Amino acid sequence: MVATQIDPTTGFLDRYSCLKVAADLVARVRESGQPLAALWIDLDRFKQINESYGYLSGDSVIAFIAQRLRENVGSMAEIGRVGADEFVCLAPNFTRDHAERLAGDLMHAIETPLEIGEVHLRPSASIGIALLEAGDAPFSLLERADRAKISAKKQGGNRYVVSGDELVSGRAGTLLAREELAVEYMLHNALETGGLRLNYQPTVGFDGSVLSVEALMRCTVNDKIIPPVKFIPVAEKTGLIVRLGEWSLLEGTRQARRLQDAGLRTRVAINVSRAQLLDKKFAQALHAALVCANVEPELIELELTESLFMDISNTVQDNLRTVRGCGVSLSIDDFGTGYSCLANLKDIPAGKLKLDRAFVLVLPYDRRAMSVVRAMVQLGKDLGMTVVAEGVEKKEQMEALWDLGVDGIQGYYYATPMDSDALFSWLKEN
Ligand code: C2E
Ligand code: CA
Ligand code: CA
Repeated sequence: MVATQIDPTTGFLDRYSCLKVAADLVARVRESGQPLAALWIDLDRFKQINESYGYLSGDSVIAFIAQRLRENVGSMAEIGRVGADEFVCLAPNFTRDHAERLAGDLMHAIETPLEIGEVHLRPSASIGIALLEAGDAPFSLLERADRAKISAKKQGGNRYVVSGDELVSGRAGTLLAREELAVEYMLHNALETGGLRLNYQPTVGFDGSVLSVEALMRCTVNDKIIPPVKFIPVAEKTGLIVRLGEWSLLEGTRQARRLQDAGLRTRVAINVSRAQLLDKKFAQALHAALVCANVEPELIELELTESLFMDISNTVQDNLRTVRGCGVSLSIDDFGTGYSCLANLKDIPAGKLKLDRAFVLVLPYDRRAMSVVRAMVQLGKDLGMTVVAEGVEKKEQMEALWDLGVDGIQGYYYATPMDSDALFSWLKEN
């Protein structure tokens, strides 16, 4: 049996454990030839309960509903909490008839009026049912149950729909949802089994010095490398980015220490996403990483994307102050593409601007782009920042950037991202 985590409010499997158990069950019933049903249960109007009575009442409602689900399901099936008010019930040996009967029983149980303090409710739920089919991957079973549930909601809620019977719509959206579930699962797996790596790509100054090396995350599952463009958006959507980001901080600072020990005092630039900076515990995570690695803060730089500065909340400001307070430097990534309010730029204690690849791509032939880059370089310089460009692939791009007064460049022209061993060799040679 797979190792599982329990959601404290309901005592059910948490979301990730539920995905693991689903994968496990699918493999088992495939072997034995048993049927398997998944029921995706979503309470109706739960958002209103939370908004009208507060989260504490919301939690109590969830705990009561969980109790009702448990009483009806017993040991026939596994239950997981997969969202604030969403549950998945995985029932091996359940045919369609069985599953429909269970859905009816659950709806009936959920409907019983509920009184918690001042809260008087008649809860109801929408349920989607899916039966394992021959070619199903574990996540397509869950995804079909989810889709059937959405269809039940669209028909007004308080009903169940069996996958295959629902009104079909949005095929592309569905495939996307399925892929996202699979990527989410792989990321958790990678976090647990050491499937994450950092690659490093240098930024080189026009004077020949190495200004920094950027840590870029790689995720390997079963010898397959999943690129960041695929997993970072999913991680951001599911909140997993905070854990991935913490891992990046720990590993990136350790790398800076290893370089320092080898006499290569090179600054390591670590990407930090918006969700991390919105987290009150970010400063704590950064401190922990610096202490664990026992590295000088001056050897660490954090890359923040420009879009972060659209609206700077108090938490973000506090976090940025702490970062600067402890001697770690900041750099503004992808500059020129976001919607940053230029007025905010002056309030950000960053020492470096990274011009986005999109501008570099069209240099030197696009005269308007040249003008825009010139203006951005001037702006950065006036604010006392180092200005670098990323995505430099060609000699003529490099020369144009030199003419425009950029301080350094990053890109395939000099070096592609490389693993730690290759980085050591590269730095020694250069
Ligand atoms: P980014 O921060 O803009 O990183 C630069 C990306 O451009 C990297 O892609 C790098 O491999 C690629 N690149 C570098 N030089 C060239 C070039 O000359 N030409 C072209 N076409 N591409 C070049 P990668 O490694 O696939 O990373 C993609 C994005 O994923 C990063 O964009 C960053 O936003 C995100 N990311 C990567 N690692 C982390 C991480 O640890 N945390 C967070 N939050 N995001 C990360
Ligand atoms: Ca970056
Ligand atoms: Ca970038």
